[in-house]
Amino acid sequence: MQAPSFKLTEIFYSLQGEGMYTGTAAVFVRLSGCLMGCSFCDTDFKENFVMTSEEIIKEVKKYPSKIVIITGGEPAEQDICALIKSLKQAGLKVHIETNGSIYFDAQGVDNLTVSPKTYVDPNMLKSAHVIKIVVGQDTDISDLKKYFNYASEGRLIYLQPESNKQENIDLCVKLIKENPFLRLSLQTHKFAKIP
Ligand code: SF4
Repeated sequence: MQAPSFKLTEIFYSLQGEGMYTGTAAVFVRLSGCLMGCSFCDTDFKENFVMTSEEIIKEVKKYPSKIVIITGGEPAEQDICALIKSLKQAGLKVHIETNGSIYFDAQGVDNLTVSPKTYVDPNMLKSAHVIKIVVGQDTDISDLKKYFNYASEGRLIYLQPESNKQENIDLCVKLIKENPFLRLSLQTHKFAKIP
């Protein structure tokens, strides 16, 4: 059977800059495309190419880390389950970063981070290990609180200041001080200029 193929923007080796695995070396597989259209999106989808799952695994295995982070774009807009299966069969630890708008079976995923935007499937929030919420000056704080209950169900909840702006960092710090079960996620790779 022919290996499934995927549209990608890039594959690169770096350190995870955000969330629970901050500072960990990993191979990033950035799938192309996202229908959400957030105003603060910093991903450029203009350049893209197609690779099969076998070709992706071959590329990922060039690097010493066994962690592969599938990100986007929105990974669930492609056949993410097929890619998870192939990567797991190849002995890799699979981390996924998704906006959670499209449900998929995340069984076997070693770290599922759901970063909700305008719509999120509640079943994806239930599957998540980490819920990462981007917070900016336009964020409706009272609406945000609907995610906080998930902390009592064992998920880690991170607030990430939009675009690293100081006023957004200050807002996140205030919210975390008021709700100490929350954690701060900074885009450390941007501060530290990690290639
Ligand atoms: S959900 Fe993520 S990838 Fe999609 S547009 Fe928003 S910030 Fe960009």
